[in-house]
Order: sequence, then C-alpha cells, then structure tokens
Amino acid sequence: MPTILPLRHQPPLPLDRLIRRDPPGAEAIEMDVLIVGAGPAGLACAIELARLGKRERDGGGDMPELNIGVLEKAGSLGEHSLSGSVVNPRAFRELFPELQPSDFPFRQPVPGEAVYFLTEGRAQRMPTPPTMHNSGYYTASICEMVRWLGERAEELGVNIFAGFPADALLVDGSKVRGVRTTASGLDRTGQPGSGYAEPTDLTARITVVAEGTRGALGQAWREWQQVGSPNPQLFALGVKEIWEVKRPLDTVIHTLGWPLPTDAFGGSFFYPLGPSQVALGLVVGLDYHDASLDVHELLQRLKLHPLFRPHLEGGQLVEWGAKTIPEGGYYALPARKSGDGVLFAGDTVGFVDVPSLKGIHYAMQSGMYAARAAYTALKLGDVSGAALSSYDRMIDESYIVADLRRTRNMRLAFKDGLYVGGVKAGLMTVTGGRFPGGRIAMPEDATTPRTTSAPPPFTPDGTLTFSKLDAVFKSGNATRDTIPSHLLVGRDVTAEVADFYSHVCPAGVYERVGDELRVNAPNCIDCKATDVLGPRWTPREGGSGPKYRSM
Ligand SMILES: Cc1cc2nc3c(=O)[nH]c(=O)nc-3n(C[C@H](O)[C@H](O)[C@H](O)COP(=O)(O)OP(=O)(O)OC[C@H]3O[C@@H](n4cnc5c(N)ncnc54)[C@H](O)[C@@H]3O)c2cc1C
Ligand code: SF4
Repeated sequence: MPTILPLRHQPPLPLDRLIRRDPPGAEAIEMDVLIVGAGPAGLACAIELARLGKRERDGGGDMPELNIGVLEKAGSLGEHSLSGSVVNPRAFRELFPELQPSDFPFRQPVPGEAVYFLTEGRAQRMPTPPTMHNSGYYTASICEMVRWLGERAEELGVNIFAGFPADALLVDGSKVRGVRTTASGLDRTGQPGSGYAEPTDLTARITVVAEGTRGALGQAWREWQQVGSPNPQLFALGVKEIWEVKRPLDTVIHTLGWPLPTDAFGGSFFYPLGPSQVALGLVVGLDYHDASLDVHELLQRLKLHPLFRPHLEGGQLVEWGAKTIPEGGYYALPARKSGDGVLFAGDTVGFVDVPSLKGIHYAMQSGMYAARAAYTALKLGDVSGAALSSYDRMIDESYIVADLRRTRNMRLAFKDGLYVGGVKAGLMTVTGGRFPGGRIAMPEDATTPRTTSAPPPFTPDGTLTFSKLDAVFKSGNATRDTIPSHLLVGRDVTAEVADFYSHVCPAGVYERVGDELRVNAPNCIDCKATDVLGPRWTPREGGSGPKYRSM
C-alpha cells in the first residue's frame, strides 16, 4: 500500500513574513503592553496587569496607568474560542479572590463522572483513572468565559481590539517591538479591493503572545531564536458539537476505544451544559497512521453509538467546530518562554495536561505570571530578555510545570497503540510519573508515515449526522468568498496527498478534484490541523473564520 510522509509535502514556515525587521510605520500606535490573543491566557494577563497597576496607584504608588492592548483575530470576543470544557476553577479563584464560584461564567458543577470503553455496539464502564477525576470542577462554554473575562478587562481600562489579527512580530535585533496587523479588504489576487484597510503597526515595551494552539508567531519566534525543546510539540484535533437535547445528561462522560483504530490516541467527551444542552466531542492525536482517518467523520459515526444516540435523537445540532490541542506536555515545553521584549503564555507554549484534558486554568495562570513578570520589568525600566526571564522561573516553579511533569510520559506512551499505552499509563499514574524513567522520545506528527486505504463510505443523514459543508455552516463561518487564500500549500501534492488533506481538514477546505488539490480557503475555521500535517495556516483578514457562540 502507498504511504505518505506528510513532512515531505509541507512548505517551510514563512519566517520572512512572520518576523519583520523593517521599522514600524510613522503612524504606529504605542502601547506599554500589547497582548496577542483574547483567550483565557491573554485576558487573564490583561486583567492581572491592570489590577497590579490599580493596586499600586490605590496604595499611593507612583506607577502611571499602563496602556494595555489586546489584539484578537475574531470579529468579536469568543468567536474563535473552542474548548471541552470542564474547568478547574483554581485560576479563576486566584484572579478574582473577591468572587464566589457562583459568580463565575460557568454552566454547572460537574454532577458525576463516568469513563467507558467502547466497541462498535457496546459501552463497558471502566474505573475512572485518577487523572480524569473532575469532582469540584465546572462545565462551561469557553466562548461565554472569554466574553466575561473581556468585560472584566474592559472595566479595568484594557483596550480590546477585536477583528485585528497580528500578522507578524516587529523586531529590532533580537528584540520584539510589537506587531503588524493583517490588511483587510484584499481581493482574491491579494490586491487592495473595495473596503481595503492597510496593516497597522502597534509597538509596545512588552508583547505578550497568547495566540493559542499552534501559534504562527510563537513558531516563528522559536525558529528565529532557535529555542528548542526535548521533544517536538505534538497535536491532537478535537471536533466538537453542541446539541439542544430533550433528555438532560447528568454525568460528565469520557470514552476510549471505538470508533478510533487501536493505533490512534484519543477519545470522546460528552458534557452536560445545563438542563437542555450537551457538548460532544472527539479528540484524536495527529500521529495516527491511516491516511484516510477523518476526525469529523468519526464523530459523526460516534453519535450513532447506543451510548450517545438516545440522548441526541429528537434533539438539534446547535453549533459545530474544531480546534487542535497541543499534546506534547512537559517534554515539549520550549527551553525559553520569554525573550527580549516578549513573553509567551497559554497553549502557544503548550501548557495542556492531556491525561486530564485541561488547559484553561494553566493558560490563565501563565497569563497571570506573564503579567507579574511584565509589571516588575516595566517598574524597573528593564524589559530585556534577562529581566523577563523571571517569567520562566515563575512557570518552572509553578503547579503548571509540576502537573505536566507528573504526567510527562503518559501521552507519549500511546505511540505504541492503545493497549500497550493503557498499561504503561496505568503504571505511570501509580508511580507519579516516575515509570518508565527518562523521556520517551517522540518525532514530529508530520514525520509519521501514513498508509493510504479505502475507507468504508459514510453518508450523513442530515438529522443526526452531518456533512462537512453543513458542519461549517453550523460554525457560523461567513467569510467572504473573495478573500485571498491564507493557506500555503507545498509543492509536489499528489492525488493521494490531496485525499489525505481532504480527510485531515474537518471543514472541507481541501478537495481532490481529479488528481488535483482544490483549496476552498474561506471555509477554514482556523483549527490549525493542516498547519501541523500539511499546508501552512497564516493570519488573514480580521473577523474571518468561525463565529462560535457557545463552544
Ligand atoms: C476540543 C478541545 C477540548 C478541550 N477541553 C478542555 C477542557 O475540558 N478543559 C480545559 O481546561 N481545557 C480544555 N481544552 C484546552 C483549552 O481549551 C486550552 O488550553 C485553552 O483554551 C488555552 O487558552 P489560550 O488562551 O492559551 O488559547 P485560546 O483559547 O486558543 O485563545 C487564543 C486566542 O488568540 C487568538 N489568536 C490566535 N492567533 C492570533 C493572531 N495572530 N492575532 C490575534 N489573535 C490571535 C485566537 O483567535 C484566540 O481567541 C480543550 C481544547 C480543545 C481544542
Ligand atoms: S484548512 Fe483551516 S480548517 Fe482546515 S485543517 Fe487547516 S486550519 Fe483547520
């Protein structure tokens, strides 16, 4: 059977575009701190920073009010946010010590939990692994959390610029000076069309990059500054649906096994979101071996399983979306998370604990540490890499790194398949991460060879199961058709590779037409899966992409 090596067909990162050495324009907007990304990490950073200043001024200190800006590529806050999400409230409590959990933007406490091993027709209840306990946590919509955090930030005087993607880091020597935004109103050929607005430069004493999973700026900075990590970052793709249901769900459910092949790592989640809504998602590691594996399609099949079908039948699909998750854990953390004039927080660094599927509280906590490091540096008037390395120290001594260290080899153990991985993961849990000793080395996802096969056909019924086209409609994506493509396709894309991309992309962006690849770029919902395995994603016109409301 023919095999595909994804890396062979992937274009290099467009470093010249993402790292810009030309000086900021004369009209550049000056800020003290500029934060890229209004997710949990970026907004927690903005709130903490504004609060530190206010506390000092209220106490009679002479630190002037900081000019803090947050750039977000979504047209309005939360529209590009997607998570499970079961939230550990720890970081919310630290950021808002004056509030009660009932004040936080959560849907409901976790009522109970269950883990099942699935075969095609059956669900076998398993003991809940310690890493998957969620008691004391809450189910939530990350879109709602982000909107709420944005309101708190604005109350504190933070400037939020939604619909302004950062296109590049502006640098001077080794120093990051700010960002350049994308242009908008370009026509299909990349020329200014009607409604053209040119890029804006924003300079800052400190730039905090909190752009989330598989961030283009973070990748570029690490490549430019040659910042490595013991293992490369690994990714999973999560496809998620929100359903309005007649039968409430009273348990947080996770499943392993079917419909995934045994040599793929992943599982599903099924969470209650109040009396009439549920969230259902499937997460699959992008180091799978079958070129025809299609996460969107597997989620559609999953809904037909007797564990899920009775809950969903008679209900209605409300929203659909997808996003990647950095899964490499402890050994994929970059050696430096700070540099001259710059700090990196949240998923762009890889602060996700995969065995527990948690990243939100780590993102927020790292954002808060970034704020503290930035504030001290600004007070001292020294924003050099040496001064900002206090952030690395805070992170290294924090519970974030301690938690990731405890599960350091767990995801990596599954490279040998579900059964061997499951046994190894059990031993790792018992020994607090000490078994097997040392690091399990992992290659980049794009270096895993894929075997092509002919998958059994699947026809969505339009009621319980949906095509990619219908799914993209449910993501709210209404990107204009005339936008230039923001996806960089490599050379040498054969018909088999085109097929592979069409399966990787949950949004139907790639199609094989004859032996050629067709790219429907406006469909893109910024999940970044093909940035990991194929064509590169680059920032595009603000407000493009999905318009999630309650993911
Ligand atoms: C399917 C799935 C299920 C998950 N389940 C859970 C769970 O149950 N519990 C949990 O704790 N965690 C979960 N996670 C992980 C969690 O969602 C992330 O760890 C968390 O959202 C990271 O926050 P962040 O702020 O770093 O990144 P994000 O939430 O991704 O926010 C980054 C923001 O930056 C913006 N951005 C990106 N690039 C640019 C740019 N160039 N210019 C301007 N803006 C930009 C994005 O639009 C986005 O709004 C899940 C993740 C997925 C995908
Ligand atoms: S093209 Fe867009 S939607 Fe499709 S996989 Fe790549 S980033 Fe995701």
